[in-house]
Amino acid sequence: EETNVPEMLEEVADRFSFQLQQKDIEIDIAIEDGVSHVMLDRDKIDQVLDNLVSNAIKYTPEHGSIRIEARQSAKSSALEVSVKDTGIGIPKKDLARIFERFYRVDKARSRNMGGTGLGLSIAREIIKAHGGTIYLESELNQGTKVTFTLPVKDEERVAG
Ligand code: ATP
Ligand code: MG
Repeated sequence: EETNVPEMLEEVADRFSFQLQQKDIEIDIAIEDGVSHVMLDRDKIDQVLDNLVSNAIKYTPEHGSIRIEARQSAKSSALEVSVKDTGIGIPKKDLARIFERFYRVDKARSRNMGGTGLGLSIAREIIKAHGGTIYLESELNQGTKVTFTLPVKDEERVAG
């Protein structure tokens, strides 16, 4: 459906306000000019955003920060959204497998974190079904950034 992107991103942050406050994690949302409405399956994209933000909170120590960015990439007329954290990061050797079902980094560190290891694989399925792409960059003990793109038709971009 027709979705107001800035509003959608504010709402995901709101859904996590309790957990963010509990860990004293700062969240900021940066939206570039030109980002407004796109057609998307709101429930599915919320599921993706919820997973990315919950991962960011889970794997970021207290007093860290999370940044959500949205931009309209000029060359491919795609909406680009990223969720970046200042957390524990992911070892290089695990990066290639991180979108696989049930794949979790080092059982010891994720044992007490809850979850099944399905979130990122579901996110990838959803983004693929929208014709988009999703990828992850990470630096151990520095943080992680997950970016997804969604194709936007020109007529959608001018609407609203
Ligand atoms: P679920 O999403 O099913 O509750 P999960 O969060 O463990 O469980 P995924 O979201 O698929 O599963 O993530 C897979 C693994 O990737 C995680 O277990 C964790 O090891 C690693 N990971 C994901 N996001 C981050 C992040 N932001 N920082 C550090 N590690 C991450
Ligand atoms: Mg997850």
